[in-house]
Amino acid sequence: MPDYFAPHIFTDQGWRSSIKVSVTDAGIVNALEPSVAAECEHAFAGALVPGMVNLHSHAFQRSLVGETGFKASGSDSFWSWREAMYRRVAELNPDKIEALTAYCYMELLQGGYTSVAEFHYLHHQLNGANYQNRAETSERIFSAANSSGINLTLLPVLYTWAGFGEQQLSERQLPFQHNLDSYLELLSAVESLAATSNQYSWGVAPHSLRAVSEAQLRALLECLQQQGFSGPVHLHIAEQIREVEECREFYGAEPVAWLLDNFPVDNNWCLVHATHVNTNELKQMRKHAVVAGLCPTTEADLGDGVFPTAAWQQLGGAWGVGSDSNICVTQAEELRWLEYTQRLQNQQRNVLANSGEQLGASLYQQALKGGLQALARTPVGGIAVGQSADFLLLDLHHPLLLGKPQQQWLDCWVFAGSTQMLSQVWVAGKCVVNGGRHINLTAITAAWRKIWQ
Ligand SMILES: [Zn+2]
Repeated sequence: MPDYFAPHIFTDQGWRSSIKVSVTDAGIVNALEPSVAAECEHAFAGALVPGMVNLHSHAFQRSLVGETGFKASGSDSFWSWREAMYRRVAELNPDKIEALTAYCYMELLQGGYTSVAEFHYLHHQLNGANYQNRAETSERIFSAANSSGINLTLLPVLYTWAGFGEQQLSERQLPFQHNLDSYLELLSAVESLAATSNQYSWGVAPHSLRAVSEAQLRALLECLQQQGFSGPVHLHIAEQIREVEECREFYGAEPVAWLLDNFPVDNNWCLVHATHVNTNELKQMRKHAVVAGLCPTTEADLGDGVFPTAAWQQLGGAWGVGSDSNICVTQAEELRWLEYTQRLQNQQRNVLANSGEQLGASLYQQALKGGLQALARTPVGGIAVGQSADFLLLDLHHPLLLGKPQQQWLDCWVFAGSTQMLSQVWVAGKCVVNGGRHINLTAITAAWRKIWQ
């Protein structure tokens, strides 16, 4: 059980100095106490910050970078972007899915994320047929997590319909298709896979109210309840005005309102892209103690809209960030965009800081707490006993940090930091990125290159 001396450490109580961090063989922090370097086996050179949770990712979409910037005619939107995404799906197979995912996870680690929730919907062959192993692509996501070293929460997606009212899937959507029975079979395979490492966990993801019917969602939740399931439940909820309108037309209510009025939603639920909500829906979300899953760079990239984060925060709502389409893989940039969109909307500064707190630290703690809640882990806003030893090391010799007081370090990281500011990234007590270089860089990059040759 190694001991590490940390000259500076960011805890849920804020910054502390000269701390001994003890980590178990399983990679869990089991003691934090005042100490001196001479009493510890190892010493961290820099400031120890908790690794960030990424609560929403579609890893393969990282490969679309640069491909969706051509404007053909008329106006581009989420729906035209989705066509490009479907074209990529049509080119994939399990080997490619694994290679793309491992590369994306490596980049997420370099960008300061140490846990990722993968909203995984590429289940089948292109014609919708099962792979011989029904959990083939899920296994590949676990493999990618293993070669990158990131903590993975796999959220297999239930996707049955193309739109409200049980519309048939198009041909391009067949690789996503599950009915409830086949989905439950997949879940049991995923449960076994997740049990193979303490860096893995799993949950469920009914894709959206357009892709899952009311009867299915009810039946799924009943099955899970009977099985004593207490993991995370994630869904896309109100990303586009068009889906809000279609929901109103079909169910007579907005998606968030309808979901919360009709289902036993609690603090294990993460509503991803609750972008288009009204004030009453926000209050309902707060009452149900859900996490708002915010993906500001993807929501900007897709022209989705802006979630009213300032109003949500005033209600005391929990939130976390996701890299979603992975157009951006650096957590600091995700937090930066979240704050900046609120500033532009509210014409104020330091919108998401809690009163009396420094903005960078406040954003960081909130995103971490919300992210951990969304993964059904104990919500803690800093490095703490009982948590996985997932750390980033801020390089205090970086020119932008020189001469800055401790309380401003996270502001430097969030608002001006690039990955060069991170000298190391640790997951479950192991160093996986050192000096910006991932431990498996060569093999992971070689697998990515092979796809494009
Ligand atoms: Zn998504």
